[in-house]
Amino acid sequence: MRLIILGGPGAGKGTQAEQLCHRLKIPLISTGNMLREAIATQTELGRQARVYLEKGELVPDELMIAFIRDRLLIPDTQSGWLLEGYPRTAFQAEELDFLLDEFQQRLDWAIWLNVSPEVMRSRSLLRSRPDDSPATIERRIQLFGDRTIPILDYYAFRRRLIRINGDLSIETVQQEIGEKLNLG
Ligand code: AMP
Repeated sequence: MRLIILGGPGAGKGTQAEQLCHRLKIPLISTGNMLREAIATQTELGRQARVYLEKGELVPDELMIAFIRDRLLIPDTQSGWLLEGYPRTAFQAEELDFLLDEFQQRLDWAIWLNVSPEVMRSRSLLRSRPDDSPATIERRIQLFGDRTIPILDYYAFRRRLIRINGDLSIETVQQEIGEKLNLG
């Protein structure tokens, strides 16, 4: 299965993505985690991405698109994949489609964990990642609304969008995703 999981900061996409990948035995491709790791290990990508993560800004599309292309070329993706935190802009979504056309792959579903800004704020403040200061959290919530919400329509229009109420507990959300994907 080929899946995308979308949601604002603190929506629970990391947690749900991990469980889903375990269940479906597909690789988890988390752009946020990979960028944080690239920064920690001081790779070239990490060097370029760092300033954006520190401010809660989006890493430029060109960098992200090249990065995802390289990742989807690794053979473990033959069994399917789950993209977590990607795409985040309309441009990334369109480019992902071109890429999948090129690879003759098809996206099954985009799962949207819909949570209120209040929940995004409180959950983000509860965890303690280096890129989680109050100012960066606000900026990420704003960018989610401005840049990522529009791509939900893109997937809804093509009947590929699954909406989930992400305000509910981890277990309930997990169960609802399973039902919507007919995982039985
Ligand atoms: P996340 O862990 O998904 O919240 O991502 C953490 C940070 O990584 C974001 O605030 C962005 O700075 C950066 N990032 C992750 N995914 C993307 C993406 N698809 N496009 C641009 N920036 C991204």
